[in-house]
Amino acid sequence: MIIMKFGGTSLSNAEQIVRICGIIETNLSRKPVIVLSAIGNTTDELLKAGRAALMGHIDIDPIRKDHEQIAIDLGLDPYENNFNQLFGELKHILTGISLLRELTPKTNDYLVSFGERLAVRLLASYFDKKIAPAAFYDSWDIGFITDSRFTNAELLAETYENVAAFFSKPESDQTKIPFVTGFIAKDRNGNITTLGRSGSDMTATIIGAALKADEIQFWKDVSGIMTMDPKLVKNAFPVRYVSFDEASELACSGSDIMHPRSINPAKESGISVSIKNSYEPDHPGTNIVSELPKDRNLIRSVSCKKGIILVDIVSPRMRGQYGFLARIFDIFSKYGISIDLVATSEISVSLTLDHKEEIDGLRKDLEEIADVKILRNKTIISLIGDVEHSSIILENVFHVLKDNKINVQMISQGASKVNISFIVDDDEAEDSLRAIHEIFFEREGLK
Ligand code: ASP
Ligand code: MG
Repeated sequence: MIIMKFGGTSLSNAEQIVRICGIIETNLSRKPVIVLSAIGNTTDELLKAGRAALMGHIDIDPIRKDHEQIAIDLGLDPYENNFNQLFGELKHILTGISLLRELTPKTNDYLVSFGERLAVRLLASYFDKKIAPAAFYDSWDIGFITDSRFTNAELLAETYENVAAFFSKPESDQTKIPFVTGFIAKDRNGNITTLGRSGSDMTATIIGAALKADEIQFWKDVSGIMTMDPKLVKNAFPVRYVSFDEASELACSGSDIMHPRSINPAKESGISVSIKNSYEPDHPGTNIVSELPKDRNLIRSVSCKKGIILVDIVSPRMRGQYGFLARIFDIFSKYGISIDLVATSEISVSLTLDHKEEIDGLRKDLEEIADVKILRNKTIISLIGDVEHSSIILENVFHVLKDNKINVQMISQGASKVNISFIVDDDEAEDSLRAIHEIFFEREGLK
């Protein structure tokens, strides 16, 4: 059995849906379980409709028309798909929001749940009519249960057993291909919750782990994880294999591969994950595996995050003192600002923030205990790969950046030992990436 997860951007119109259903059809012998996100940008549209309702304006037409048009284009009768009932319910919620002029996280989750609920009904109905018997499920029907942290709920451990038990029961009807809602679940009180934006990935890996699937496939519109962002470096190409740890680091350091939290369930159960391209289904894409093949590059992939703030904090009083770092981190937590990278010496700490808001208060508090320099417009470049060979990697990076007259301003190596990150100026980011791509991926010998 395999899990096939399709994201919203691969489900934006009838043509894409037909293509995806064709891909599912060619995999029927592997007994696929399908996990779907909301169609196109429906989740954002629902959030927008919620904000409009807060101002007293109720309008479900854009979402309704999009879905009805796709149904018509797919040759379906839109009134046959329980759409009316769902749109009626959606209108009620928006009316409630507009009357109360209140949109709580709980209502917000209820509101966005319509995206995934509409998607599974639409696709299962098309698949069932045109290809093979199919059934749709809201994830709570198959046993998904979370805590009540609305908008970012945590799955309860019993979900695994529930899902496994469900699919071994007769009512799961093994003859039908299941289409399951990603992203949404319910808490113990029956309230709808969500797993956080992009949470459908999590639904897919949880089902995969619960059912001990042979493979979990993420279908996208690129052929897997790329060596670098092809928009920045035109020679970038897809990476064949990455390890689970490397995938986690990549997901956290700005690559849009999958939801960072969704990697763990697959890693723990040792199920191979693949990232594949729905426009090129025969391309092998990228496999995320427990054991990497022997013959491989030093670096798997390089990610970058622009517009970062670098904070340099220097205090000679720090030397030999305990509690100094704790005080610094306390100040950051007081302002609710999260830190990405850290590098320290005996008397100084450098930190990076991915923070758009004002940091004057933070700066003032820090200045009470140290000298502080705030530097803006920086880029974090993260090299993900075999950091056991960090000396060779660093030697080559420094060499090539020096040749390009680019100054490295901070370095940090994560404890996971697969990530070396460093900072350059924003306007040097692209040159740095191109130069690094050239030596690590376009030349023979750096293995
Ligand atoms: N539809 C939800 C979102 O846009 C969940 C997902 O796409 O995974 O965040
Ligand atoms: Mg989405």
